[in-house]
Amino acid sequence: MARKTYTGPVVDVSFDGDVCQHAAECVRGMPTVFDTAARPWIDPTRADSEGTAQILRDVIGRCPSGALRVVDHPDGSWSA
Ligand code: SF4
Repeated sequence: MARKTYTGPVVDVSFDGDVCQHAAECVRGMPTVFDTAARPWIDPTRADSEGTAQILRDVIGRCPSGALRVVDHPDGSWSA
């Protein structure tokens, strides 16, 4: 599985299912964004403020496998 990117208004999130260790840090840390019952299961549109985007960055920082990465928008701008 190739790394896939999910677009959000403040930051994007990329995910590589081949390296995910299913530790569920993401699901426990921010269930509004990481919901395995939803499709797609990663929804960065739920992190729609700088505050929630920072929580998302922190949660992704705890991903033990490196499967998740934060992709900051190039110019720091928000996409509507
Ligand atoms: S925290 Fe990382 S390794 Fe754990 S389930 Fe989420 S993506 Fe996979």
